[in-house]
Formats: sequence, C-alpha cells, structure tokens
Amino acid sequence: SLLITDKCINCDMCEPECPNEAISMGENIYEINKNLCTQCVGHYDMPTCQDVCPIKNCIIINPDHKESREELYDKYVIIQNIV
Ligand code: SF4
Ligand code: SF4
Repeated sequence: SLLITDKCINCDMCEPECPNEAISMGENIYEINKNLCTQCVGHYDMPTCQDVCPIKNCIIINPDHKESREELYDKYVIIQNIV
C-alpha cells in the first residue's frame, strides 16, 4: 500500500479520487487504509492519489507494507467481491 507522509497539507485532492475509498482524514493529516489500498492496481495504471497530490513525494510506498503486483491484484479482487 501507499503511505501519506507528514508533507501532507490537507488539500483534500486525493480523498475523493481513490477508487477503493482507502483515504480518510486522520488525526492531523489524511491517511491511507493499508487494507484497502491496492496502489490502484485493477483500476488505473498508476496510483491516482500520487497523480493528483500537489506535494512532491508526499505519498510514498509504505515501507512497512510492501506488496507485489500479484498481492495487490488479489486484494483488488477481494475488495470487489465485498462491495
Ligand atoms: Fe487509493 Fe490508489 Fe491511492 Fe491506494 S494508490 S490510496 S488505492 S488512490
Ligand atoms: Fe495531502 Fe497530497 Fe492528499 Fe493533498 S493530495 S490531502 S497534500 S496527501
């Protein structure tokens, strides 16, 4: 999954764009639910939150939650079957 770092300025751009509704406002800045973020695999060629975020390197790969493309796709399928 991806991770929103403390560079976030709470501009609200990313939250409505996430196809998995993985982004929400946290205590101080926006947060990504690692169980819902597929890095946009299954939806888009690149992570759309990174695409719309105006701050460079604000959204990064979560160093504690790295996944292969196959794992991300499996997560996408599971999420699709739940909703
Ligand atoms: Fe949502 Fe895609 Fe960003 Fe993950 S990478 S939080 S799925 S917009
Ligand atoms: Fe924060 Fe970037 Fe999302 Fe704006 S688009 S709320 S700066 S993570």
